[in-house]
Amino acid sequence: MHVLKYLSAGVAMTLFSAQLLAAQTPITNSQKQTANQLIETALDSDLGYDIVESLTTEIGPRLGGSEAEKRARDWGVELGKELGFDKVSIEEFTMPFWDRGQLHISLTSPYQQDLYGSALGGSAPSKKGINADVVYFRDIHALAEVKAGALKGKIAFVDGDAMVKSQTGAGYSQANMRRRVGWQHAERGEASALVVRSVGSDSHRFPHTGMMSKNEDKWAKIPVIAISNPDADHLRRLHNLDKPLSISLHSESKWKSDVSSGNVILDLVGSEKPEEIVLIGGHLDSWDLGTGAVDDGAGVAITTAAAALIAKLPKRPKRTIRVVMFGAEEVGLLGAFAYAKQHEANLKNHVVATESDFGAQTIWQLVSNVNPEATVLMDEIAKILSPLGIVRGGSDVPGGGPDIIPMARMGVPTIRLNQNGRDYFDLHHTPDDTLDKIDPDELAQNIAAYAATIYLIADSDVKLK
Ligand SMILES: [Zn+2]
Repeated sequence: MHVLKYLSAGVAMTLFSAQLLAAQTPITNSQKQTANQLIETALDSDLGYDIVESLTTEIGPRLGGSEAEKRARDWGVELGKELGFDKVSIEEFTMPFWDRGQLHISLTSPYQQDLYGSALGGSAPSKKGINADVVYFRDIHALAEVKAGALKGKIAFVDGDAMVKSQTGAGYSQANMRRRVGWQHAERGEASALVVRSVGSDSHRFPHTGMMSKNEDKWAKIPVIAISNPDADHLRRLHNLDKPLSISLHSESKWKSDVSSGNVILDLVGSEKPEEIVLIGGHLDSWDLGTGAVDDGAGVAITTAAAALIAKLPKRPKRTIRVVMFGAEEVGLLGAFAYAKQHEANLKNHVVATESDFGAQTIWQLVSNVNPEATVLMDEIAKILSPLGIVRGGSDVPGGGPDIIPMARMGVPTIRLNQNGRDYFDLHHTPDDTLDKIDPDELAQNIAAYAATIYLIADSDVKLK
């Protein structure tokens, strides 16, 4: 009797726990099975690699606003149709176009030696060539102290240090200060030009290009040139030997009139709540020195391939999955701002947004910035991703990638699948950003993680806001 009572109480307890567990587990067994199938299929598929190979080979470099970027949009539309997306469109916007032109830069004192440099985005032309003595600044903080007019007739060189390689890319925003705002201090000093140590972690003689920041709507009036890390090391050693440095440079970079760019939108329309949008994407434009494989052909390939695998399931998930191939990211998040503006009235229906824009190495962490109920969902998704080597990171980490910033500021919840960034800043914005740097297996791991995560969110009823 006592035993029976104990047993039935035990059964009741078990049933109670099962119910409790069901209430706490926002993922059904069948959804879990589908997610696991997606992971298996993705790990076996070449689709993502084929996409990034096609983009980098058939289109090549695609500077924001260029004719090549337009060809990339047409490519994106064709790809979306081919992969079975339900709706495919281009949303255009206009933008100012910065043209790199030719550059020559060399050391002329204490002896003649070519330097490996690249004009930074927004740099002005040198008109005639400039040949001037160099004033050396150990870092951006030293340059920031320069007095008005103190650099008249000189070329300023702002040194710094090569970035330390790291999983997270920590140190980028600090190092990037010299690229972004160095010109403003050099112009206050009335320098004829500014030369900057590249922002990167490599020791190759590749310069890293990248956009400068505007100052109250004004762009630089002087040429601003990034030189490779080894060239910057060389200048530092000569300076430390008290050698008089001079540099000759000629740059044709300049702004041209407005051009059109656009975002490519690929939708898998939701079967039950088509108005609710789960947004993923990458940016379609690239810098013009390499072929934009790692930045961000990989992101376009990862997110498009993940959604395309979900498109092959027998039934569409409940919510709409939208892949956005953002235009003109590198030159100031222009596609991102255009998207947020064009969809402003509908952003309340954007359930979550995330972008892949940190290369193609293995994903190691899932972070989120969603409500407590959705945090439980994300915890459960992380468990499903754990066989891929992915751990759960913070549940209050804002920002889903650069192109998501404007949307996130307007209240759209974000998640992010963080990639290992150890090699990212070796390649970032250099001529070395080419297809051979992508490991097909690592790319497939990314697609597996995205496919499972996005499917589980899109087929869920949990609100993330
Ligand atoms: Zn990027």
